[in-house]
Amino acid sequence: LESLKKTDPEVMSIIEEEIERQNKHIELIASENFVSKAVLEAMGSQLTNKYAEGYPSKRYYGGCEVVDKVEELAIERMKKLFNAEHANVQPHSGSNANLGVYFALLKPGDKVLGMNLSQGGHLTHGSPVNISGAYFNFAAYGVDKETERINYEEVREIAQKEKPKLIVAGASAYPREIDFKKFKEIADEVGAYLMVDMAHIAGLVAAELHQSPVPYADFVTTTTHKTLRGPRAGAILCKAEYAKLIDKAIFPGIQGGPLMHVIAAKAVAFGEALQDSFKDYQAQVVKNAKALAQGLIEKNYRLVSGGTDNHLILIDVRNKNLNGKTAEKMLNDIGIATNKNTIPFDPESPFITSGIRIGTAAMTTRGMKESEMFEIAELISDTLENKSDLDSIKKRVYELCDKFPLYK
Ligand code: PLP
Repeated sequence: LESLKKTDPEVMSIIEEEIERQNKHIELIASENFVSKAVLEAMGSQLTNKYAEGYPSKRYYGGCEVVDKVEELAIERMKKLFNAEHANVQPHSGSNANLGVYFALLKPGDKVLGMNLSQGGHLTHGSPVNISGAYFNFAAYGVDKETERINYEEVREIAQKEKPKLIVAGASAYPREIDFKKFKEIADEVGAYLMVDMAHIAGLVAAELHQSPVPYADFVTTTTHKTLRGPRAGAILCKAEYAKLIDKAIFPGIQGGPLMHVIAAKAVAFGEALQDSFKDYQAQVVKNAKALAQGLIEKNYRLVSGGTDNHLILIDVRNKNLNGKTAEKMLNDIGIATNKNTIPFDPESPFITSGIRIGTAAMTTRGMKESEMFEIAELISDTLENKSDLDSIKKRVYELCDKFPLYK
């Protein structure tokens, strides 16, 4: 970043500070990852200079013949990766991908059924503070109080009662496999469309380590930056019959010009995900999550639903006399990044919470394996239970990070 260093040392020094933070932290935020240098380079490319409203070969600007090629490549690679009939790679984010589907299908006030935010769903699945909840009439399903897993019979009952036009499956904080086939059966029984938001698990789906929603859902939305390890953005997959409807909803419906540099980075990331090494990476993500869960259980942590099937773990910290907010701060202070998160039926507010959410996608990218996961469980336990002085824990965190350098 030679030019930036010279022309704007103020911004450069902030970027350097963040690079240092990323290097020296154990990154356990379940929605984060570290992209490859190739993805970074595509994102930082001259493609940012180009306006390209519309779609390949149907643009509202001249000079798009080159960027057309990169959008076509991203579309083709994404369709191949997920075995989908149609892909729209223009959504700027996961939230925009979801809004695009809502705009394509719904009128204000229409009934939708989505997962409760406080039990694992996402803000864009009907929270009253989000446009989804403000403009559409969302009903919610959650998890079973005993098993802390989705109870499909209960979803069916709610769907039969509410008669939604659309059912939204998918979650931000659900550690178990979701049965999209069952969701489709329920949607068909009540005559609803099915949208699956696979943002968190997209990488696992691409590697065939989680049931794919693509054969079942009418629409599949995703972010591209979580387990999928691409640039910060979104995308939509759908059946060919809905292709025009979805494309129109994204542009001109809810967005203007696409971010061609980010679309190029998506093409790079999808190319990486099509390689065999990506399957190995995702398999390690899942193995690491299981090891981390086991390490925590051995230290007497209660995990929501008792464990994990994917990349994500939700820890209930109440038996350690903590809340999520305090636990998040304690861990951050010694260099472990996590986020506080509500647990199902949480007695605390979303600002305090009783849980923390962790995931293994980012540290697996740095090369960590099961033995490091057990070490991280120990670091978490030592910190939250004040078993060791903070400086020595911090030193252990730095030493562990140093063994797995980023962008070496
Ligand atoms: N959908 C799910 C399930 C998510 O977990 C997230 C982000 O955390 C989103 C959508 C929103 O993505 P973005 O932050 O890119 O808008």
